[in-house]
Amino acid sequence: MMKHNEQELIDSAILARFPEENPNPVLLACQEGRIHYANAPAKALLYQHGLCDQDCGKLTKEALSRLIPSIKKSQVIGLQLKDRHYQVFSSQIDEPAASFLFFQEITPQKQYESLLYLTESVIENTIEGIFVTDSEGIIERVNPAFTRITGYSPMEAIGKTPRIFKSNRQDDDFYRHMWAEIREKGYWQGELWNRKRDGHAIPVWQSITAIRNSALHIEKYVAVFHDMSEIKSSQEKLQHQAYHDFLTLLPNRQLFIDRLQQAIASSKRNGSKVAVLLMDLDNFKKINDSLGHHLGDKFLQIIAERLKASCREEDTISRLGGDEFAMINLYINSQNDVIDILERVEEAISQPILLEGHEMIPEASIGVTFFPDDGDNPHSLLQNADLAMYKAKRSERDKYALFNPSLQESAYLRVRLESEMRRALQTDQFKMYYQPQVDAKTDRVIGVEALVRWQQGEEVISPADFIPVAEETGLIFPLGRQIIEMSCREIAEFHQRGYPELSVAVNISGKQFQDATLPGQILEISQSSNLSRGKFHIEITENVAVSDVNSALHMMNELSKQGIGVAIDDFGTGYSSLSYIKRFQAEILKIDKSFIDDLPADKATGAIVQAIISMSHAVGMRVVAEGVETKDQVEYLRNVGCDYIQGFYYSKPLLLHELISRLDKDYILHS
Ligand code: C2E
Ligand code: CA
Ligand code: CA
Repeated sequence: MMKHNEQELIDSAILARFPEENPNPVLLACQEGRIHYANAPAKALLYQHGLCDQDCGKLTKEALSRLIPSIKKSQVIGLQLKDRHYQVFSSQIDEPAASFLFFQEITPQKQYESLLYLTESVIENTIEGIFVTDSEGIIERVNPAFTRITGYSPMEAIGKTPRIFKSNRQDDDFYRHMWAEIREKGYWQGELWNRKRDGHAIPVWQSITAIRNSALHIEKYVAVFHDMSEIKSSQEKLQHQAYHDFLTLLPNRQLFIDRLQQAIASSKRNGSKVAVLLMDLDNFKKINDSLGHHLGDKFLQIIAERLKASCREEDTISRLGGDEFAMINLYINSQNDVIDILERVEEAISQPILLEGHEMIPEASIGVTFFPDDGDNPHSLLQNADLAMYKAKRSERDKYALFNPSLQESAYLRVRLESEMRRALQTDQFKMYYQPQVDAKTDRVIGVEALVRWQQGEEVISPADFIPVAEETGLIFPLGRQIIEMSCREIAEFHQRGYPELSVAVNISGKQFQDATLPGQILEISQSSNLSRGKFHIEITENVAVSDVNSALHMMNELSKQGIGVAIDDFGTGYSSLSYIKRFQAEILKIDKSFIDDLPADKATGAIVQAIISMSHAVGMRVVAEGVETKDQVEYLRNVGCDYIQGFYYSKPLLLHELISRLDKDYILHS
């Protein structure tokens, strides 16, 4: 009995001590929520989460409702208290009718579980392809991205080795290095090519990690990769874009210079020459302006195709910009080789192009330089080719020109002339001269032609020498404006001195005539200098008028709205079509000096001059004969009905005060 009691005592002591010393919360509670016993961790837990009353005698209602399945039915339940997780086991006792609840914290397991869940969903959802192999390299697991990228389903891949992706783009050395690094560092990453199920090789960026167990033996390998083919191709595209012209897809200037550099280097080695051809289309601007950029672009594309077709595989053709193309020809032995090429290129370019019903014959001017003769670097070769090209452009006869050093000399002179002209504009070195135009019937001066001179100290430079440079350099715009200003001011002054009837004709160059602001400019200047309306004319050559008929017609229309008359200059030297000219409704036609020179002796010329005069009258134009030097010429012209006469016979071009001093009140010139 004693023994029995002793045992009970020991049991109850153990029982009593056991929960007492249990680091986990232990609780004895009944179905009504009364707490018969709580060890220290249990009390702490209950208090911390407000699960019991003040003296820990009773569970709160909420606590009871969560624990009741455990108390009543001995169910194992999960209990989350804030961020901690517990599992509650229970053991029922009869007296009192209650249950021991044993709380075991499982927060780390829970955290691990959710981490595992997260990892799983990352693996399943990432765009990176993933495969896991065992230590022997047998594939154990793949993710959906793997299947998407490689085309292998899990069934097809699992059990195989990564050799199924081998593309043969990497050699054995590559793999040896890779494995050495994995063994040594446990990790490798780099770019390699993998073969997909359909046989295509794709570039991938791949990392391989060795997973070791606690004994540090490699247990698995995890490979993660992404498909780089798109990045690669967009990189290649960017690369291509940076070095090619988007319109014609030809190499651009930068690539051209690179290639020329290479050509120079290889020519130094093999001793042959390199030829550089620079070409500029002659009529492109007109095509672009009249047919629109869309057809202009097409035009350039066709030219690019033709150039490509006309040269060898190893030659480079480039569009440098606008309508400028360039070509590098390798292995040239003599100039004759280039003449052949030039002829081929010309032949190819000059075939007619039909675009939306418009037929055009492309023409190009080409300048040629050679390495090593004309320059030792891409820059000087191109620059000199440019000079040669301009020579070809200016030439009526030749479509191409080879560079020679005298071109450099004249280019230098042009540059000097240009900078001197800029200075001359600032310092009023340009002066206006006026050449009288005389009425053939009455001998009265009816108007003057304004002619510009460049007064450089004592020296007078002829407009024939500097107007072309002004045109090329764009200086014609400020110069042209100055000419209009000076002429308006001086002729207005003339009017005030008692000659209100005189009109002035100012020469307008081709570029100026294309400038849409011209009519407004003339109007503004003539108003501010108080020149009477209707007393200002312009002269344009017939070539300027017919080179772009539509724009010319538009310009004429604008000018006539402002009361500005137009004279067609140098008639007979160019197109010479009266049927064309009459469309412009010009008021005056000027017969070129070259016809007048042959008068009156040459009968044929006389017949032409008479025809021009009568046809002009028929379409309402009056006629000026230019360059009239003799009395015979004057008489002849008067007899055939020419309206006005201009020339040295009456007067050379004069400064304003000279003209005033020679003119009497009846507008008659005296010597
Ligand atoms: P152009 O418009 O045909 O001017 C007539 C040229 O013939 C003038 O030469 C004039 O001096 C010259 N001339 C007139 N009568 C006779 C003559 O009886 N015999 C000879 N031998 N020559 C005569 P200039 O002034 O040297 O001008 C040459 C060209 O320069 C002009 O030809 C015109 O195209 C251009 N030019 C002159 N002034 C200007 C200007 O202010 N602006 C523009 N854009 N061009 C101008
Ligand atoms: Ca003129
Ligand atoms: Ca003329």
